[in-house]
Amino acid sequence: MNYDILIVGAGHGGAQAAIALRAAKFAGSIAIVGDEPEYPYERPPLSKDYLAGDKPFERILIRPPAFWNEREVAMLLGRRVVAVDPVAHAVTADDGTIIGYGKLIWATGGVPRRLTCSGHDLIGVHGVRTRADVDRMMDELPAVARVVVIGGGYIGLEAAAVLARFGKQVTVLETLPRVLARVAGEPLSRFYEAEHRAHGVDVRLNVEVACIAERDGRAIGVTLADGETVPADMVIVGIGIVPAVQPLLDAGATGGNGVDIDAQCRTSLSDVFAIGDCAAHANAFADGARIRLESVQNANDQATVVAKTITGTSVAYHAVPWFWSNQYDLRLQTVGLSIGHDALAVRGDIASRSFSLVYLRADRVIALDCVNATKDYVQGRALVMAGAVIDPNRLADTGIPLKEMIAS
Ligand code: FAD
Repeated sequence: MNYDILIVGAGHGGAQAAIALRAAKFAGSIAIVGDEPEYPYERPPLSKDYLAGDKPFERILIRPPAFWNEREVAMLLGRRVVAVDPVAHAVTADDGTIIGYGKLIWATGGVPRRLTCSGHDLIGVHGVRTRADVDRMMDELPAVARVVVIGGGYIGLEAAAVLARFGKQVTVLETLPRVLARVAGEPLSRFYEAEHRAHGVDVRLNVEVACIAERDGRAIGVTLADGETVPADMVIVGIGIVPAVQPLLDAGATGGNGVDIDAQCRTSLSDVFAIGDCAAHANAFADGARIRLESVQNANDQATVVAKTITGTSVAYHAVPWFWSNQYDLRLQTVGLSIGHDALAVRGDIASRSFSLVYLRADRVIALDCVNATKDYVQGRALVMAGAVIDPNRLADTGIPLKEMIAS
């Protein structure tokens, strides 16, 4: 087997790369190798509408199955790439198949970071990354009354919200002094902690997990460093991902926490690109720091950059990061990256459950977190893109629409 373009990973980035290549009239052969059995599907609903049972799997497919056939994109599903030979321009799959490529696009995302303590692999302990993960959880749910979520990040909190809505008794365990500590300012963390508590979720901060308690091979609770065991029929672990890049690193690509890429998403290996969650890139919205972004926006935009580069319109990746999270009736929309902010303006009344946080660094607007405030999100984007210098008191004035501040 040999393809002009071989894409490894049938997720958001991989699917979008093939879509963008065909949209740019790329006429060569394209194949996507994916280790999951499904056609590419949207991952965000896994901790939202899909887990809630509000959207069937068919409705979260990125394109209907026939699309790939029509666009002549070969789908090599249920196969995992285990080695890359950059000299021979070929990869080896776990079934021994060798697949040659002209150009390789590595779009493998990551695997959920696992606990290292005893009991981490017991029945009843779940990560949330794939449809199979969530289907396993859903199968168990009817027999579950108590759930412990380890990790107060977006995925853990979204799952907690769905399960609380189902009437489960949910506890969230977070090691840090607040939830969402790595991605948001303190007012947002406190707001979400209060919302979850108001919905009956026991949010515990500053707690260390010692091990998962067991009976007959099943998880029955989470034991904390102070000896207390929080009873659980199901344990959900949402403590981040490990980028799936080992075959590329083994082949000599530069990287560590992800594979390093340049502005056109090229790795250090000739004819090998990388995109999405697994790609470490210098991001203008993080002051040029090399970071990985875990968002649909980033995977899609990097896929488009690669497609353009391959088809001869080279562009540099310079997309403003954006993200969303749905919990209860709260729609959070974020734009920019708030990491490293040195000032923060609260726009609106947090108690009204419709407000925005505007983050600044060195007087410039760098990010917004907007809760049930889509207008701010839409208008604030321009402020982030421009790095606008605006007085925080003015930003906090809801009487002035953000779009009127851009020229000031
Ligand atoms: P993925 O979509 O993960 O695709 C990678 C694919 O490659 C996977 O199918 C993987 O199994 C496969 N693969 C890995 N290694 C190999 C190999 N060696 N050989 C073959 N195949 C391989 N983002 C948002 O912007 N908003 C949200 O609200 C949001 N919510 C989320 C909720 C959940 C539960 C999860 C898990 C993620 C969420 N994300 C959200 C993040 C978003 O889904 C990811 O950023 C996005 O999927 C990244 O796309 P990707 O192509 O890099 O990786």
